[in-house]
Amino acid sequence: MKVEVQLGDITSISVDAIVNAANPGLLGGGGVDGAIHRAGGPKILEECQRIREHRYPEGLPRGLAVTTTAGDLPATWVIHTAGPIFSRGEDRSAILASCYRESLKEAGRVGARTIAFPAISAGVYGWPVEDATDIAVQAVLHSPPDVQEKIQKVILVAFSPEVENAWKQALKNSKS
Ligand code: ADP
Repeated sequence: MKVEVQLGDITSISVDAIVNAANPGLLGGGGVDGAIHRAGGPKILEECQRIREHRYPEGLPRGLAVTTTAGDLPATWVIHTAGPIFSRGEDRSAILASCYRESLKEAGRVGARTIAFPAISAGVYGWPVEDATDIAVQAVLHSPPDVQEKIQKVILVAFSPEVENAWKQALKNSKS
């Protein structure tokens, strides 16, 4: 499993699966979620609605992930995961790590070999970027052997140079 950093818009990346930093409602939102639904078209929302009706009437629990079509996007699948809202009083990093683990598991399950992640919870959910990217990189690099075999490439996507630096630093930290 190769891990790379890429600066840009996740909706234009040609990988098998892109991950959406969604919310438990799964019916769209701001940030990367809004961008994915705008660029991918209505098919993604239709499938999200079905998932809400049949599997998660109360919403997708934070830390879990579900897969839909990618609609008009270059990717084949969108894997939606709901990250935790950052809290100073409570350590929610296990939930954030779980988002990456569960998304990779979903990717393996559907047969995706390449996957792109945004910096989950590091936008509207307020997680300090360096900490969010460290947790993410640890979770990705410590994914179970069967996942590491199935997934060839993980792209850590940065929408700004600040996040790009944080991803790169997190990868460096993991080697020291
Ligand atoms: P959350 O609610 O989980 O914090 P956000 O979408 O607000 O999710 O932000 C998560 C990260 O995704 C932030 O670093 C934000 O800059 C980034 N982001 C926003 N739009 C895009 C996009 N189109 N492609 C890649 N990353 C994006």
